[in-house]
Amino acid sequence: MKRVVLLGSTGSIGTSTLKVVEDLPGELQLVGLAAGGNTDLLVAQTARHSPRLISIQDPANVPGLKSRVAPGVRVVSGPDGLLELATMPNADIVLIAIVGTAGLAPALAAIRAGKDIAVASKEILVMAGEIVMSEARKHGVKVLAVDSEHSAIFQCLDGKPPSSVRNLWLTASGGPFRKTPAEQFATITLEQALKHPSWVMGRKITIDSATLFNKGLEMIEARWLFDIEMARVQVIVHPQSIVHSMVEFIDGSVLAQLSTPDMCLPIQYALMYPARADSARVQTNFARIGQLTFEEPDIARFPALALARRAGEIGGTLPAVLNAANEVAVEGFCHQTLSFSGITETVARVMDRHSVVSQPTLDEILAADRWGREEASRILAVAH
Ligand code: NDP
Repeated sequence: MKRVVLLGSTGSIGTSTLKVVEDLPGELQLVGLAAGGNTDLLVAQTARHSPRLISIQDPANVPGLKSRVAPGVRVVSGPDGLLELATMPNADIVLIAIVGTAGLAPALAAIRAGKDIAVASKEILVMAGEIVMSEARKHGVKVLAVDSEHSAIFQCLDGKPPSSVRNLWLTASGGPFRKTPAEQFATITLEQALKHPSWVMGRKITIDSATLFNKGLEMIEARWLFDIEMARVQVIVHPQSIVHSMVEFIDGSVLAQLSTPDMCLPIQYALMYPARADSARVQTNFARIGQLTFEEPDIARFPALALARRAGEIGGTLPAVLNAANEVAVEGFCHQTLSFSGITETVARVMDRHSVVSQPTLDEILAADRWGREEASRILAVAH
């Protein structure tokens, strides 16, 4: 029985994780849950799974929450609550599925407490991939990918060293604007951007999938997870989202991992690793799928890919700045203070203004994150 702490239990990844745990009674047990503001769902999840410790973002919600859960459940809150959950003595693995940067401190705390971590929150590796991976090596713990692309690469690599790899190929669905002409990008609406062709996900990652910033963040995530420099991390558009990613080895052989798209599969793989557990949830019918197609990504319409490559190649604090500026710009787009094409324009401007710190400490990364947010907010305020 693996004991699991789940940070972000009320979100898209969080609720899929609960399905996986319910599929595998006797194999996985939830011992801790953290949510943001959705107290009703957290109460329901607590009643169903009986975790010992739960956390909510706002301390003001603690008394109300306490009155609605069983007396044996401890209720904590805020960043300290996340740290307490991440270091629970009886947990084996911590799955981090909080949107944004709030997952970074708990990820490091879990690693230092000797826990394996399963990472959905790619921001953690984008901002501080070098620190996270070196801490994991130091403490002898695993960093397991939940992102379907990185789970695919991990499965294909199967322990082969970076020296055996010619290229990692991240597949991208291309998002809802794969065929939209460049001149229409400025007038794309929030409603249009929220319609992802293959995946149902949280709002932030859905917008990132429309700009292709999501793929850009994944390129940097792959660079750190698999210790492969950016020049060997490639993106290919694959609209059917059946091939989740591929590894091209130095002998020219390419291995891919395929299935119909369902996040329960990579979540289950990460939580059960190294075992494979029986599950009927994902069925792949190739005759029905019919064809798998691939296209070159269009960097001119989706400059996010080039920005991410630049951030990953230069490294230091630049990826944290890219991530921070993008979060602010996406919020601006969601609140209709920024156009769709304004998202990448804002990120590019903030990156151009940043003085990169190479080999940054965690404090320098967090300072760059704050600076990136402030700078992006300033640009948005002037433009509005
Ligand atoms: P959602 O927006 O659906 O969920 C985010 C979760 O985080 C919610 O449970 C939310 O709580 C919680 N949360 C937010 N802030 C805090 C905080 N400060 N403290 C505690 N909990 C908090 O996002 P997704 O599930 O889509 O994505 C989560 C992460 O996983 C992202 O980094 C994303 O990039 C990544 N990811 C997602 C995929 C997907 O298919 N959705 C695929 C691969 C990666 P509440 O709702 O209660 O406010």
